[in-house]
Amino acid sequence: MSDIMKKTFIKKILKNFSKIVKSPIRFLKKVLLNLRKKIRLSITFKITSTYLGIYLLSLLLVIILTLAGYLGYKIFELDNTGDSYAPYIIEKTVYNKESLDAFIIDERIEGILLYNDNFNLITRTGNEYKDYNNNIFSKIDIIKNNRIYKYTDSYIFNEKTYYLTINFNIQKIIAELRIIGFFILGAGLIGALILAAIGPIVSKKMVKPIKDMTEVAKTITANNINTRLNVKASQYELKELAETFNKMMDRIEEDYIRQQHFVSDVSHELRTPIAVLKGYTDMLDRWGKKDEEVLEESILAIKNETTNMQDLIEKLLFIARNDKHTLKLNKEEFYIKDLVLEVAKETKMINKKHLIKCDCKENSLIFADKNRIKQAIRIFIENAVKFTPEGGSIYIRCMKDNEYSIIEIEDTGLGIKKRNLKKIFDRFYREEFSREKEQGGHGLGLSIAKIIVLGHRGKIKVKSTYEKGSIFSIYIPHIT
Ligand code: ADP
Repeated sequence: MSDIMKKTFIKKILKNFSKIVKSPIRFLKKVLLNLRKKIRLSITFKITSTYLGIYLLSLLLVIILTLAGYLGYKIFELDNTGDSYAPYIIEKTVYNKESLDAFIIDERIEGILLYNDNFNLITRTGNEYKDYNNNIFSKIDIIKNNRIYKYTDSYIFNEKTYYLTINFNIQKIIAELRIIGFFILGAGLIGALILAAIGPIVSKKMVKPIKDMTEVAKTITANNINTRLNVKASQYELKELAETFNKMMDRIEEDYIRQQHFVSDVSHELRTPIAVLKGYTDMLDRWGKKDEEVLEESILAIKNETTNMQDLIEKLLFIARNDKHTLKLNKEEFYIKDLVLEVAKETKMINKKHLIKCDCKENSLIFADKNRIKQAIRIFIENAVKFTPEGGSIYIRCMKDNEYSIIEIEDTGLGIKKRNLKKIFDRFYREEFSREKEQGGHGLGLSIAKIIVLGHRGKIKVKSTYEKGSIFSIYIPHIT
């Protein structure tokens, strides 16, 4: 084998080696992912297992605390016994030289040991406990397979310190502990079995309202958008959830209905100009080619209608942009008086049939979108012109208060009935007379003006007396 061949061979092995090492890990990952997808633990299972886990932990805690408490109590008892025996035993052994064996009077006592103040053993009971652990500081010992509790205390006799250790056999206590522990554990496990059996039934009942809600929610479409969840059937948090869901559906339904109306209004508005266009093109087709009068009339009408349609489409686009929150305001600082005078001048130029008076004594600096504000002022002035009979007056005023710069447009026109005042800002709303009249627009002007003014954190106020006139006041926050 040549060197090159050897190298490529080693490279191949190395390449495959990493593949071989990586592939089982990848395989394992895949299996785990698939398993997770397949075993979709139900919420019922999760609730039951969580409660079962908490229960078992509590059971363990109860067992530990009970056993520790019982053992503590027994040791306390042994300490008390030791406390009562010890002084007597020391006295008898140190002074009367009596054997310690005489004091094994309690069946729990396995042995007694007496030490001097240097911890040297002076005497002890019988030889059978020779192999005891001499460490008097260790409390529990195992001697001859028996667990021993070593009670030790010091006593001063004749100015000498003695240490006495009494070895209590606690094997019986340990057996008692075992029995107690066993019984609690047994009872606890039976409880756990009951919990495991009943848990899924209870939690299923608990999540049933959620399931019902899901089923209802699944069936809601545009056709049955008025369907609501049964709030009465739910309780507590689920009731709140059902109510919140229903309120959300109310809002969606309201929006949906508004959209439907909007679409039908738009279609309605477009139907007339399209019918007019069709009428004139038909007329042109039949006679217009030869008759110049018809030709001119048709062209003029078509021009008017297309302008009208263009105007409508522009307005609709504006509203749609606002609804989609994509309407942008290009704000700048400017004096409102200049803008109002400009619009008034323009209106005066094209309208000679009304008396238009502009009184702008007060001026204020505002931070706003100049073109949009101009558009809004124009809407109010154009309406005043539209709905004021020839010879009537229109007054335009600029004022200010602490917060707002106020533009007032007053007319001596038709006025608005009180009951209709709220509706005039609705999309496509027009008073009966303005529907009939030619000058009536599409009923979108005030909606647009409202969007603009509210977009500048302003407000609009209207005062109107039917058949006498109206005052529209626009409030825009000012800088100074
Ligand atoms: P339009 O484009 O039809 O003017 P608007 O939204 O601007 O639509 O106004 C809605 C309706 O409010 C008008 O059709 C009209 O009936 C009424 N309106 C608005 N301004 C005045 C006014 N200055 N005087 C009387 N009626 C008015």
